[in-house]
Amino acid sequence: METILFLAHTEADGTLARAALETLTAARTAAAGLGDAELMVGLFGGKTQEGAAQTQGAGAKRILGVTGADFSQPRYASDAAAAEALCREAKASIVICPATSRMARVMSGVALRLGGKVDTHITGLKAEGGVLSVNRWYYRQRMEAVLQRTQRPWVLLLEGGCHEAWKGTGGTASVEAVALALPENCKRTVVEGLKAPANDQQTIRPDAGILLVAGAGWTKAQADGKAHVEDAEKIILDFLECAQASLGGSKSVVDLGGEGQAVLRFMTHLNQIGQTGSTPRHAKGLSTCCHGEEPHVVGWRFINERRAIDLDTNCGWAHGKADVLYVADAFEVMKKVNALLGAKA
Ligand SMILES: Cc1cc2nc3c(=O)[nH]c(=O)nc-3n(C[C@H](O)[C@H](O)[C@H](O)COP(=O)(O)OP(=O)(O)OC[C@H]3O[C@@H](n4cnc5c(N)ncnc54)[C@H](O)[C@@H]3O)c2cc1C
Repeated sequence: METILFLAHTEADGTLARAALETLTAARTAAAGLGDAELMVGLFGGKTQEGAAQTQGAGAKRILGVTGADFSQPRYASDAAAAEALCREAKASIVICPATSRMARVMSGVALRLGGKVDTHITGLKAEGGVLSVNRWYYRQRMEAVLQRTQRPWVLLLEGGCHEAWKGTGGTASVEAVALALPENCKRTVVEGLKAPANDQQTIRPDAGILLVAGAGWTKAQADGKAHVEDAEKIILDFLECAQASLGGSKSVVDLGGEGQAVLRFMTHLNQIGQTGSTPRHAKGLSTCCHGEEPHVVGWRFINERRAIDLDTNCGWAHGKADVLYVADAFEVMKKVNALLGAKA
């Protein structure tokens, strides 16, 4: 019989973030599909009570916690020790975790300490006939594999945005404290503070409903023979603010800075979508001034509804890569869209 442990850290306020609640849904699905499997919850953090309450109704046999100030800040030594202690206490044969940076950093090491195996970037789980299979994409999301393993414990790190977040039934939960005396040499790293860009400078928003992708066309000479990069910057930033959209870029546009050409100042390599960039998950995507080349479009694999604006009737989007292509000037279209969304002129 498999023992499935849903393992996650809590946030500063003791609650579970959306990625963790999505993972709990997946862990329940796996436990239900395996039939006679037991589901356990393991939480660590400064506070765990609030997070445990969010798991109510999920059907966990035990809710285990490693709780205390030593576990409030992300730190390899203490996070790994807490995760290991919870896995051992649960006698977990399958450990399912959200792929947050905190969990992703420690779970390979924890799997090694437990004598198990780890698989990362899991996007789906299915249990049939008493066997668990997981899905993972390879070669920059071009090939999907279905994996099974016989070795236990088997640690799985689940990507965000692939499952519905678990909505607990409410009420309080009792957390069984797992004792863990953290040695002094596991406390040497101290988080002194966080530096993050102000909210209005943050252009990558994984939870946004829409992804706006800007291509190199925004920086190229337009009908009047001149480039209008300042206009482009205002149009793009206005849209991001009004729609609270996330910003992506094509490889060409993010590379321009390094080539000394006119650039969109807020566009970095972190924004790049595609084969050598990222593959974000959003309900909708709008591509602007981007040709829609295959190595770029492969990064749109998880965008459900795709629209594009391009001057070229023969661009990649026109070849079946977008649901709707507007053959139009993106400067004009987006100015109008922003006005409708209430942007200041
Ligand atoms: C191995 C490999 C990996 C790669 N990985 C990636 C990757 O990860 N991501 C990626 O993006 N690319 C990647 N590429 C590059 C990719 O093939 C393209 O070269 C790149 O995406 C082109 O960027 P672009 O469409 O912004 O620019 P361009 O090809 O220059 O297209 C600009 C577009 O803007 C349009 N335009 C101009 N002005 C306007 C206007 N006013 N209104 C509307 N449209 C306008 C033009 O019609 C044109 O279609 C990769 C290539 C290779 C070989």
